[in-house]
Amino acid sequence: MLHILQHPLAAHAITRLRDRATEPAAFRTLAHQVGLMLALDATRELPLRSYAVNTPLEAHTGSTLAEGLVIVPILRAGLGMVQPYLDLFPEVSVGYVGLERDHQTAQPRSYYCKLPPLAGKRVLCVDPMLATGGSAVMALNLLREQGATELALVVIVAAPEGIAAVHAAHPGLPIFTAALDRQLNDKKYILPGLGDFGDRLYGT
Ligand code: URA
Repeated sequence: MLHILQHPLAAHAITRLRDRATEPAAFRTLAHQVGLMLALDATRELPLRSYAVNTPLEAHTGSTLAEGLVIVPILRAGLGMVQPYLDLFPEVSVGYVGLERDHQTAQPRSYYCKLPPLAGKRVLCVDPMLATGGSAVMALNLLREQGATELALVVIVAAPEGIAAVHAAHPGLPIFTAALDRQLNDKKYILPGLGDFGDRLYGT
């Protein structure tokens, strides 16, 4: 259940995102472009129902989206992946999960959680870097506890360690990524990666 984005523009944009010389303004534009392609990929199987309209020439039965979509960014870097969904899906709801690392235990801890109703909705959890998978697993656990059943994770760069951790905790959960990288370093950064996504996005 790993979907790797296959598009020449995605490969182009990811390489520019990796480049340490890419400044925050360009980084945000590229992140938006990759996020948009991922949003299309991750919603490819959204269910439709038939919908009747009148064209200027005749009656026509077409399609309309059948289910609500909820997008849940993990704060803070996940915010950089929200806009494409707002642009594409007029009816989207946005929830937020804020996670930070507990300095005593080194485990992620939730400091903020604001979610719309999730039952019966298609829920996409977004976070650009899937490294150890600790935050993603915790966010996915929270979403499941709050009633999400149709759940997927959308990231920009994934490490094999993070994918394994997510699939150990949530077998079969669909993961959409624009790049599958090699490994983590001893500081848990992804290699080759692109550094700290949040810092590069916000120039911190
Ligand atoms: N988070 C980041 O922003 N970058 C990494 O490489 C790993 C986690």
